[in-house]
Amino acid sequence: MLRLKHELEPGRAVFGELIEPCGAGAPAREKPGTNKVDVGTAALGCPAEQGSANAAASSAHGETRAGAPTPHEPAQRIDEVVVTYFAKPHSYTTDDVIEISAHGSPVVLRHIVELCVAAGARLAEPGEFTMRAFLNGRIDLTQAEAVRDLIDSQTLYQAKVAAQQLEGALSRRLQPIKTKLIDLIAVLEAGIDFAEDDVSVLPDATILDHIAAVRAPLEQLSATFAYGKIVHEGLTLAIVGRPNVGKSSLFNRLVERERAIVTATPGTTRDVVSETVAIGGIPVKLVDTAGIRDALDEAESLGVRKSMEALADADLVLIVLDGSQGETAEDAELLRQAENRPVIVVGNKSDLGNSGQWSVASGQKILTSAITGEGVAELRGEILRHIGGETGAQAESGFLTNVRHQGLIKDSLAALDAAKTAVAGKVPHEMLLMDLYNGLRPLDAITGATTTDDILNLIFSTFCIGK
Ligand code: GDP
Repeated sequence: MLRLKHELEPGRAVFGELIEPCGAGAPAREKPGTNKVDVGTAALGCPAEQGSANAAASSAHGETRAGAPTPHEPAQRIDEVVVTYFAKPHSYTTDDVIEISAHGSPVVLRHIVELCVAAGARLAEPGEFTMRAFLNGRIDLTQAEAVRDLIDSQTLYQAKVAAQQLEGALSRRLQPIKTKLIDLIAVLEAGIDFAEDDVSVLPDATILDHIAAVRAPLEQLSATFAYGKIVHEGLTLAIVGRPNVGKSSLFNRLVERERAIVTATPGTTRDVVSETVAIGGIPVKLVDTAGIRDALDEAESLGVRKSMEALADADLVLIVLDGSQGETAEDAELLRQAENRPVIVVGNKSDLGNSGQWSVASGQKILTSAITGEGVAELRGEILRHIGGETGAQAESGFLTNVRHQGLIKDSLAALDAAKTAVAGKVPHEMLLMDLYNGLRPLDAITGATTTDDILNLIFSTFCIGK
């Protein structure tokens, strides 16, 4: 049973105790007719305790108050709790909500949940609280999706980006673009519906200008997805190179702990070792691969095959060469294989000197020493540059991180292209409008629907019709 120290009040946290007065295993039961609130809200009680039953839910409605166990049943305190009552609409979902905070032991939490369920509450479906917030109009779709991103974030930067979206950054960026499109639709609709009222029809060149004014910022937004996808999903960086050039040592330097096995015998990193680190707030999965060369035994051959796979799958490839030695045929082959891929070339073992006999221009490789740490900070910076962290993308807010949004923006752009073609083909404006609506609908699917009323209101508020 849950016994509160004070009556619940909206917006106040109230101390309470979880007590077991009914003997172990006694079922908790709902007081009939009082559990009328939402997911997560519960009437908790013991059948013997009329006064204290339903403390949480019904006190919120001013019906009962916390009671004490009867004298013949000594209460045993299991936990102290804090119960907070959020009266609607001032809650996450805008419904009446009661939150019970306990100390976190899974056994106690489970017991509280069981009491709630026995008292008539039910468990929320996955994402139900956020879905309710959306259905009740407190947040739009992009914000609901941002909640999921916030929960899934692995780095503080990802959390910050999700929080910006939760505050409506993407919707704020999209809204003016949408408004321009709706304006154009309204003008064209007015031209058709009120033709006899001498509403002037826009010349083709002006329509094209309007379409371009919608298209350009959408295109810019679409381009942010390259970086946004990386922010959202992180990237995979494969470290490849001949055996013994220092791949594992560099991996350890980047991971900053001894994870991969480093030995002086070539070919010992037989499997693929991976670890995720945050570089510039982006989760980077570093994959240390077995040395790429003709394998000497079967286990190593498996490792080499995995290296090739890791190389193929990676978003970014770090080719490690031994900078103190001349370039070998294997190095050259590796550089050739990584052509046309995002690649960073590293000349390791700089502490042993620089042979200078490389086909890679000196400005295109980074010299490091995994032993002394020299050049490792520069390498991190180069990785960050490749990620896009220094391109200014990080400073932007409201960029696309979600593949669904990217697909919708692309649909909208395609429809606007069709609209441009329609204007050039001098098709009737009814047909052109279909393309424009096709361009609007995907944007609606991101931020929320535009209704016919929105467009009609605009027509009537901005045009002097039926004079
Ligand atoms: P991998 O086979 O490419 O993963 O190479 P390892 O990281 O296992 O290193 C092979 C050997 O080279 C080990 O003895 C390391 O201590 C040594 N080594 C790695 N990096 C450097 C470096 O920058 N300078 C020097 N002098 N030795 C290094």
